[in-house]
Amino acid sequence: MKFHDADVLIVGGGLVGCALACALKDTPLQVTLVDSHPPAQSWDAATWDSRIYAISPASRRFLMQIGAWQRMDASRLQSVGQMRIAGDDGRAELAFTAVEARTDELARIVESRELQRALWQAASESPNVTLIAPAQPSALHDEPDGGKLLALSHGPRLSARLVIGADGVQSWVRSQAGIEEKTTPYNQWGVVANFECEKPHLATASQWFFEDGVLAFLPLAGQRMSMVWSCGEVRKNALLSLSADALCQEVARAGQNRLGELNVISPAAAFPLRLMHVADLVKPALALIGDAAHAVHPLAGQGVNLGFGDAMELARILKAEPASRCGDYLVLRRYERARRENVLLMQGVTHGLQKLFNNTNPVLRILRNTGLGLTDQWAWLKHRLIQHAMNA
Ligand SMILES: Cc1cc2nc3c(=O)[nH]c(=O)nc-3n(C[C@H](O)[C@H](O)[C@H](O)COP(=O)(O)OP(=O)(O)OC[C@H]3O[C@@H](n4cnc5c(N)ncnc54)[C@H](O)[C@@H]3O)c2cc1C
Repeated sequence: MKFHDADVLIVGGGLVGCALACALKDTPLQVTLVDSHPPAQSWDAATWDSRIYAISPASRRFLMQIGAWQRMDASRLQSVGQMRIAGDDGRAELAFTAVEARTDELARIVESRELQRALWQAASESPNVTLIAPAQPSALHDEPDGGKLLALSHGPRLSARLVIGADGVQSWVRSQAGIEEKTTPYNQWGVVANFECEKPHLATASQWFFEDGVLAFLPLAGQRMSMVWSCGEVRKNALLSLSADALCQEVARAGQNRLGELNVISPAAAFPLRLMHVADLVKPALALIGDAAHAVHPLAGQGVNLGFGDAMELARILKAEPASRCGDYLVLRRYERARRENVLLMQGVTHGLQKLFNNTNPVLRILRNTGLGLTDQWAWLKHRLIQHAMNA
């Protein structure tokens, strides 16, 4: 049997690639992870990361199992006990609580950099995981035995039975494998910023659907809040050009002064929003996970949760097989079948909501606001929606 440098070679050590490496720890699989930029391991504790995630209970359980969750600084995490979603007629509202969902919390709000640090550390302490960073992949070839050979710009060539593309939405691995993607830009941006607030957030996440976008307030640890405003180019440019004071006033006004006066603590930044499908999640000896495999609108806050779902499912399948079969196409197809439906469902729901709300048609305006109100009163439907979001 041919010797390989690794059984599983993960390209991309972001949250999802690192999570897969951790999920494969203590297995007979030899795992190597390469990243072009190693994550920061320390920063000024007085600052707050502008990228914040709402981690679902299913993702939290997974992160706990793989030994990352417990490495995060608990004082920087915030539980979400209630969610309030408002329509654009000033009246319709859908609200649900953790108690209604029969759970201790709806989500946990975490800083991206803190979770990334925890995952990287957990991966680095696994005896069967080797981290190589910074390293820039330059070519990916098929090997005669069915495996893959990855060349690095300044470093060794690495052979593996299975290569994982965990290298984000512009995935280099995906393009090397010739996997087609279909990207639909929303012509929208996610504008993010963090604020200190005059009033306590009461562990409540709020979302407002406007004709030209969606505004979300996520509760941050302490009396702080993280904003994600999904909006068009004109509003994005306007928000980014505002002075700190004017930004605070504009965001407070748009959020109906629910948290009183605001004081910005992480400056506004913007990210383009897109919907992306890929033709294949797997090829022989190759699989895609995380944003390399899909992109969704952030209005449901599920992007990284979908990625953790990929890592969890792929690890479960690989662990059930002998190491020699980890690149086998039939094994990888099981992963593709298991994930395809979940990903399409989440993309469909967020895309549908985005289209329903970002629309000036007066009939749709009545329908969407009536829908929110009805859903609020219809306990069964509400429960199903909550369960789906929590198990994503
Ligand atoms: C505005 C905004 C708000 C969001 N809010 C939420 C939210 O509330 N909840 C949520 O769940 N999701 C949210 N998301 C989505 C979330 O950010 C992504 O789903 C998540 O970061 C994907 O993780 P990943 O590990 O797949 O990819 P990435 O985080 O993109 O990581 C990719 C990694 O690969 C490395 N890399 C890239 N190219 C190469 C290469 N050629 N060679 C080697 N390494 C490479 C990079 O250095 C990086 O470490 C949001 C996104 C946006 C834009």
